[in-house]
Amino acid sequence: MFTQARWEEPLIIQLSHPRIDQPQARNSESDLPEKVRRRNPPSLPEVTEIEVIRHYTRLSQQNFGVDLGIYPLGSCTMKYNPKLCDLIASSSKMQEIHPYQDQKTIQGILQIMYETSSFLANIVGVEKITLQPSAGAHGEYTGVMLMRAYHADRNDSTRDEIIVPDSAHGTNPASAAMAGFKVVQVPSRDGCVDKDALKSVVGPRTAGLMITNPNTLGIFEREILEIAAIVHDAGGLLYYDGANLNAILGKAKPGDMGFDIVHINLHKTFGTPHGGGGPGAGPVGVRKHLIDFLPVPTVEFDGTKYYLDYDRPKTIGKTRAFYGSAAVVLRAYVYILLHGKEGLETLSEIAVLNSNYLARKLTGIRGFTLPFANHVPRKHEFVISASELVKDTGITALQVGKRLMDFGIHPPTVYFPMIVEEAMMTEPTETVSKEELDNMARAVQQISDECYANSSDLKTSPHSTTATRIDEARANRPKTMQLTWKMISKQSNSV
Ligand SMILES: *Cc1c(COP(=O)(O)O)cnc(C)c1O
Repeated sequence: MFTQARWEEPLIIQLSHPRIDQPQARNSESDLPEKVRRRNPPSLPEVTEIEVIRHYTRLSQQNFGVDLGIYPLGSCTMKYNPKLCDLIASSSKMQEIHPYQDQKTIQGILQIMYETSSFLANIVGVEKITLQPSAGAHGEYTGVMLMRAYHADRNDSTRDEIIVPDSAHGTNPASAAMAGFKVVQVPSRDGCVDKDALKSVVGPRTAGLMITNPNTLGIFEREILEIAAIVHDAGGLLYYDGANLNAILGKAKPGDMGFDIVHINLHKTFGTPHGGGGPGAGPVGVRKHLIDFLPVPTVEFDGTKYYLDYDRPKTIGKTRAFYGSAAVVLRAYVYILLHGKEGLETLSEIAVLNSNYLARKLTGIRGFTLPFANHVPRKHEFVISASELVKDTGITALQVGKRLMDFGIHPPTVYFPMIVEEAMMTEPTETVSKEELDNMARAVQQISDECYANSSDLKTSPHSTTATRIDEARANRPKTMQLTWKMISKQSNSV
């Protein structure tokens, strides 16, 4: 069994104790006018270097991450990324440049941005890329704004609806709604977009359709060309949610499937660790007819020098400061060069192989089934259902997930997509070994045995993590959130 560090780590402010060797504040010698000077010293923790190191190291031991074990969180691509990408991104050359520098002095990073854009454009089959958006959802928002600009430019202002399938990632309808569109949901049939249902919702109000392929069930929408034609014939555009590209690298291009706009999560597929609290990058690629609307500036090359082009009259404007998360783009550049075309293709083959291997193993275990089992193979991820387990034993997908933590395995994404009951959405990724997959299957087998043996362990697990059962509802209630150490101190003083 896996065991995390289990101690109550105080706040660093609670570790504070005044010291005589503290450098004295020289406020009195300051040239600052009297009225702007502090009256009291700031409340900073007074701790020694070793105390700081131990505090944060202890905190890090209470966490789970990709550097510790398998993290098969479906739809999120939590994979190990080469440390080389981080190493290069943290070089002083990168750390010390500033976006306000004269463009003559940042030719290197502009070249990297330009080349990364063309690599990505090639990978997804589009003509041009903007590197500006900071994340997937931000890329979606940018993409939806591009749709609006495109329709407005054609004097077509009736298009105020965006269609999303019922299996869509939550950010898709959220981004469309944020941009002011009405969201229309299209049901799926047998795990894929229902073409007839789609036909019945498209029309003169359709701005576009947002989907991902393979979809969130890990199923490749084979009828994608027909789907694209239905939307295009109605005058709408096709948006590809390319957050997770590790099923199709070198195998299929969204541009070839008929998509007009694609976003890519560099922090899922291309070398930036995902889930570390950012920054990320969600570049957006477009086909020819949308190039004019891209955010400014774009990174261009005139044959001798790289430059930023702000002179784009039809642009939607800026979607964030400067030109994008440069260090994340650099990691992607390193990652792509490191793998090469063949390497990227092999990577997606392994991702898909791992996913199918694990899907086969898990669905051989009592209590778990693979809905829409006729769709095989799955791509980089799959969704199993624990509904039989619930029926037989009362143990839910959530409880299985919690118990998995005792084995040093991060739970899969549970209860998403919503079209599968007791869903466990699992993405092992290409960076896990066969041994790890077998180990996970053994853990799920043991959990299934425990469920059918009516073990009480399931209801109270995890037992080996720093925190056990977290009150997820309470954690989301603004009134009970404690966001600063002062709030926490106040509460602990009052008890
Ligand atoms: C992660 C993800 C997103 C959103 O990306 P963020 O960078 O978290 O905003 C969108 N769609 C899918 C399918 C995803 O997996």
